[in-house]
Amino acid sequence: MKLIEGKVIADAVYRECLVSLEKLKAAGHLPGLAVVLIGDDPASKAYVGSKDRKCQELGLHSVKIERAADLSQGDLNSLIDELNADDSIHGILVQLPLPKHLDEDEVIQRIDPAKDVDGLHPINIGKIAMDDPTGFAPCTPSGCQRMLIESELPIEGQHVVIVGRSLLVGKSLALLMMGKGEGGNATVTVAHSRTRDLPSLTRQADILVAAIGIPKFIGADHVKEGAVVIDVGINRIDDPSAKNGSRLVGDVDFDAVAGKCEAITPVPGGVGRMTIAMLMANTIRACRLRVEESGT
Ligand code: NAP
Repeated sequence: MKLIEGKVIADAVYRECLVSLEKLKAAGHLPGLAVVLIGDDPASKAYVGSKDRKCQELGLHSVKIERAADLSQGDLNSLIDELNADDSIHGILVQLPLPKHLDEDEVIQRIDPAKDVDGLHPINIGKIAMDDPTGFAPCTPSGCQRMLIESELPIEGQHVVIVGRSLLVGKSLALLMMGKGEGGNATVTVAHSRTRDLPSLTRQADILVAAIGIPKFIGADHVKEGAVVIDVGINRIDDPSAKNGSRLVGDVDFDAVAGKCEAITPVPGGVGRMTIAMLMANTIRACRLRVEESGT
């Protein structure tokens, strides 16, 4: 069994980022990312903190904007408009989920598609669906795809079964993997909570992706001998033996499944590492595209 380590592959992405960044800086351009956090959800705070730290580590311009949970839709829209107009910002990420009274779709659609480094704007999702590589792919799905490519695991012609159909993960990954670009040309099946007899479907997968949000949901019974398993899930569970009383686990029961796999991603240390790396790569690319477009 091969362990697909997110850190190793993320580091390869960061090395590419640094090469592009140096070229941009030498020409007088500094990529900037604005991350917007509404409310004080501890998991969202932790994600935003890691994104901000990684920007600083790489030497990107980073702006962390925090607002109270009762921010109005109008004020959030105005904030997005300001960031759209700010030339020092090339990427905007609004940390999801938003407090219930705010309309996520409205916010995502308000972001300038050229600054939508989270890749969730309908223009960017539409470009993926049309095999147009000029847009931004969502970070977690493109991170999963990159892990498979870098691990030199075959994708073309393989049967990929994705459990989960969110736009953030499952549906977008399905578009990428059935697309005609690098890391595509797979035969993709997407399963969800209404899928009948899930284990018999997932057992047909050459590559099984779990993006469900239920700790250790995928067991040995779901996995074919020799399959590749990508675990997108990040779930915090109680663990009295852990220092702070809890620990992170994926949507896959790693101990039960690993022995059957050709390759598998761990949690933590797997897909999560890639999400931030792809965000940095998208932000630097957004800056480069603007420079190319303006001809400066
Ligand atoms: P989500 O929006 O809640 O979607 C979960 C999907 O799983 C839905 O499509 C749902 O089906 C499906 N599902 C739920 N119960 C199921 C069941 N019993 N059988 C089959 N399918 C079932 O979650 P998400 O945003 O996609 O996130 C999924 C997981 O990935 C979470 O653990 C999240 O924390 C993690 N995540 C990790 C990263 C990262 O950086 N590694 C990034 C994003 C998310 P329905 O559509 O029918 O409800």
